[in-house]
Amino acid sequence: MVNFLSSVMKKLIILTGAGVSAESGIITFREMGGLWDKYSIEEVASPQAWKKNPQLVLDFYNTRRKQLLDSQPNAAHRALVDLERKYEVHIVTQNVDDLHERAGSTKVLHLHGELMKVRSEKNEKLISTLNGWELKLGDKAEDGEQLRPHIVWFGEAVPMINNAAKLVKSADIMIIIGTSLSVYPAAGLLFEASKSCLKYYIDPIAETQFLPGIELISKKATEGVPHLVEQLLK
Ligand code: NAD
Repeated sequence: MVNFLSSVMKKLIILTGAGVSAESGIITFREMGGLWDKYSIEEVASPQAWKKNPQLVLDFYNTRRKQLLDSQPNAAHRALVDLERKYEVHIVTQNVDDLHERAGSTKVLHLHGELMKVRSEKNEKLISTLNGWELKLGDKAEDGEQLRPHIVWFGEAVPMINNAAKLVKSADIMIIIGTSLSVYPAAGLLFEASKSCLKYYIDPIAETQFLPGIELISKKATEGVPHLVEQLLK
């Protein structure tokens, strides 16, 4: 029965970025620039940074994790869960937070990794969930190697990109939320959708972008998403 239902349900793909979590108190990428006066995000989120100053990298991600544990899903995360009543919903997120899962979304693909997970620095398949928020130098994976954040850093390959592109290609409806569409290859996913796919973009800056064929909704996520979800559930 479940398989039958999912084969007749329309496929709805949702691409989310830092903006969907902004109203949960998690700062966006751009705002991060001001947070660390001395370092740009590229300088703490790269393999070179990990090699040069692993403690600095750990401090950065420990701070992010602590902040995430104090944050809650917002009305936008929660509204997206309701869509699963009528559609086959897949969320493809650039976010490393777990707020979509905590809201109740069942199919979430993380393009850039997951903040609450760690992995061996020598084997990217040895992934585990961190207990708490703090990862320290000397914390080892099963293979005896140092654990690092399970994050796709600048300059690293994005292993989930092909799976994400496949999902977008098959979408009947696509909703893009809270992303400046400036980080590639994630931003390029938009162009994988078919011509017949209905597309919406919710972001306070939506109308400043030149995106023909996409309905631009210049609103914050907690306002724009519940409203669109209500329309799509009618
Ligand atoms: P970005 O910072 O480049 O863009 C954020 C977008 O969110 C902007 O377009 C902004 O207008 C919009 N925005 C701000 N407040 C909003 C709101 N209340 N509602 C809706 N939209 C709002 O972020 P990006 O495009 O996601 O790409 C940056 C990279 O930073 C990604 O790779 C992502 O992995 C990473 N990142 C993740 C998190 C997280 O996990 N929550 C947070 C910061 C950065």
